[in-house]
Amino acid sequence: MVVPSADPVAIARDLLRCRSVTPEEGGALAYLHDVLAKAGFAVHRMTFAEPGTAPIENLYARVGDQRPNLVFAGHTDVVPPGDEKAWRHPPFSGAVEDSMLYGRGAVDMKGGIACFVAAALDYLGANGGRPQRGSISLLITGDEESVAVNGTVKLLHWAAERGETLDHCILGEPSNIEVLGDTIKAGRRGSLNGMLIVHGRQGHVAYPDRADNPIRGLVALMAALQAPLDRGSEHFDPSNLEFTSVDVGNPTVNLIPGEARARFNIRYNDRHSQMSLKALIERRAQTAGAGRIRYSFEWPPSNADVFVTRPGPFTDLAIAAIAEVTGRRPKLSTSGGTSDARFIKDYCPVLEFGLVGQTMHAVDERVPTADLVALTAVYRRIIGKYFE
Ligand SMILES: [Zn+2]
Repeated sequence: MVVPSADPVAIARDLLRCRSVTPEEGGALAYLHDVLAKAGFAVHRMTFAEPGTAPIENLYARVGDQRPNLVFAGHTDVVPPGDEKAWRHPPFSGAVEDSMLYGRGAVDMKGGIACFVAAALDYLGANGGRPQRGSISLLITGDEESVAVNGTVKLLHWAAERGETLDHCILGEPSNIEVLGDTIKAGRRGSLNGMLIVHGRQGHVAYPDRADNPIRGLVALMAALQAPLDRGSEHFDPSNLEFTSVDVGNPTVNLIPGEARARFNIRYNDRHSQMSLKALIERRAQTAGAGRIRYSFEWPPSNADVFVTRPGPFTDLAIAAIAEVTGRRPKLSTSGGTSDARFIKDYCPVLEFGLVGQTMHAVDERVPTADLVALTAVYRRIIGKYFE
């Protein structure tokens, strides 16, 4: 088997030229399908749909049929470019200037995908077209940047149904803060949205004794809810509750409103579960309300629970590979927003390591071609060590 060229810059350019703004496939998965099939992968493409959402294309590719199965995961969809004229180079042109590759998705995360594809091709080329033992798989979705319902969560389910076992996963999201090699994401805080509603009685502002102003109660409960939730844990920063909107919707100057609402989001660590957190918040409200404030909570469903991938042989292997290539010892971080790792963690241990995230979602998103080469070398070493 002749394995195709493993040049990460060329693969990244080809991917950046696909206009794959969620939910459009834009040719990105078709391109990967072609490259991976030529390299001997069994490639599966599937479209997932659900009422009220756009159908989305996904891809799963595997070479080898033994365990362990090392999985590289990612998404080819990108956020919109915004005003294209504000870009130094058109956002879907894959332009290179001064050893810098420009384009929407350069770091988040077509660049990362190009690097793990190139690393896998290079490994296969050096080993007669098959893993020495075990398997390499790619789990690629087109639905990460938007609602993420027809993507990784369904792809994982699909894979489990057909008996695929995933042993370890590297998710190629841009995990580094300043420089390639500074950070592995080994877990994420959970995210929980809530709505506090205080019920009062509407009336005339000149006769407050005949009314019950819910804004007074809302202010008291908000103060109680904003107290620290914990002091952090071994792997996490302190949890945080942030109010994001306070709503009364009252256009009338002489009217006491009947109801007031406040919306909030909690980013929480492994000292809590969603259940225990809701209980804690409701207990605090109960104490602050002291039987005088009438209130209720709404908790929209959340599929972003906290998780941590604890240090062990797999993290040691990744850290060693990164250190050997970059000369830096990455720290294991659990900061930042959620990612598809929240779904993958239910199937196997997952680490996030990719490019440097500084220009993600920004105008002139770009990546030094040297970073693409270095990240490919890191992934290549991870594969080599994993199958040693
Ligand atoms: Zn991303």
